[in-house]
Amino acid sequence: MSSTFNHRAADALANDSLRTTLTRSTGILRQQRTAGFADAAPFSELQAAARALREDALIRLPALLTQLETEARARGVEVFWAPDAATANRYILALAEARRVRQVVCSHAAAVEEIGLDAALTAANIGVTRTHIGDYILHLADDTPSHPVHSALHWRKEAVTQLFEEHLDVPQTLDIQSLANVVRFKLRRPTLEATLSVGGVALAVAESGALALIDGDDRLAMAASPIHVAVMGIEQVTATLADLALLLPLYARSAGGQPMPDHALLLEGPAPADVADGPRELHLVILDNGRSDLLRWGYGEALTCIHCGACHNVCPVYREIGGQAYSARGGGPIDAVTLPLLPALTAPEAPRGRRPAARPASSADGEPRLAPPLRGAPLAPLPHASTLCGACSAVCPVGIDIPRLLIRLRGDLAAAGEMGSRARLWRRAYRWGMQDAASLRRLHRLLRSARLLSDWPQPASQTFHARWQARRDR
Ligand code: SF4
Repeated sequence: MSSTFNHRAADALANDSLRTTLTRSTGILRQQRTAGFADAAPFSELQAAARALREDALIRLPALLTQLETEARARGVEVFWAPDAATANRYILALAEARRVRQVVCSHAAAVEEIGLDAALTAANIGVTRTHIGDYILHLADDTPSHPVHSALHWRKEAVTQLFEEHLDVPQTLDIQSLANVVRFKLRRPTLEATLSVGGVALAVAESGALALIDGDDRLAMAASPIHVAVMGIEQVTATLADLALLLPLYARSAGGQPMPDHALLLEGPAPADVADGPRELHLVILDNGRSDLLRWGYGEALTCIHCGACHNVCPVYREIGGQAYSARGGGPIDAVTLPLLPALTAPEAPRGRRPAARPASSADGEPRLAPPLRGAPLAPLPHASTLCGACSAVCPVGIDIPRLLIRLRGDLAAAGEMGSRARLWRRAYRWGMQDAASLRRLHRLLRSARLLSDWPQPASQTFHARWQARRDR
């Protein structure tokens, strides 16, 4: 895979098959979302209520996390605070070593993907099986995810059947159910043999310490293993159980048009000895990995995300280039905000120099915050890969104003000197050309004679104001 965003985006744009798949898949997801909200309360009301809940959780974050820890411990859950990905991995590896684990099953979870647990387990000679069908395909193909909900969204069934024939020695079929059955059959033995399962958390409930899980493969991962580790970001907490009644259906409708997640599950602690199902030992890893910095830098709004993927499905940029162009571990509109700020969230994409520490600074929008250390940010082009059309924030179930965050980040990048000479030149030319109609015509002539922007339409011979004045004077 190419190493910079610009190269990856160019590769994606040249790949007609990928673009056709992205167009078709995101189109289906958009239709499902629209149908999913047809019988719901007005979206704007749901969005406002959810935004208020998520903002409140962010304001009270330290108190809610402390309450979560207390309640979870009272229910027999081992709670571990991980400041970064390496510490989270060390904790899980030490646990695996102490319990002599040789086989781990992992369900689909952004936080597990973020810490790169697969690689850490493999390096320690511990087998890993992914229980999510999309992740299973990617694992088999040594590929990376392209969407937060449908990680293998960029895979066509024709390619999947070829992959299965090559790696699993099964006859080719284009029947989706048969392909799913192949995965189910292959997963059975490693799932039954695993003694440790690792998964994510949709939301943790502070008042009770319960963990809401939403993927069917979470159940599969926990089916036989006596030890389960749930990994969550510090922002994935909500105050009360009642909050889930709003947030989970909103997630499910936004992600795939369903009234509720198919396999929603509330994990309230380790399973008692007299209950047949569930892990006997439950660990909760609460991961920071730079999230506190996002709050200090004034980008906390991005942490209210519930990872439904709706913004990806409507974004005109994502629909052309797919998630893999954004970073080595995927991405989309909301990640264009978080990834340049927190390269720790993604795979190694070497910084282009030493990153200085955050410095106190007043922001362009007047809010007191620390300026993020963006010098040498490896994913600095991402905030510019947006048309700022606002389609993302219109469908976001928690109403994150992604365009506003992108504009702010562009400003912070420019202040940190992270604007290329070509971008600086374009910006100057744009500012000059936009002063008045005569300058615009001159800029147009200049660019055409230099054979740049040859498809830029000829500016009108008369300005709007002149036409309006002429009409009034008639
Ligand atoms: S930013 Fe909003 S729409 Fe995008 S994934 Fe997060 S919650 Fe969903």
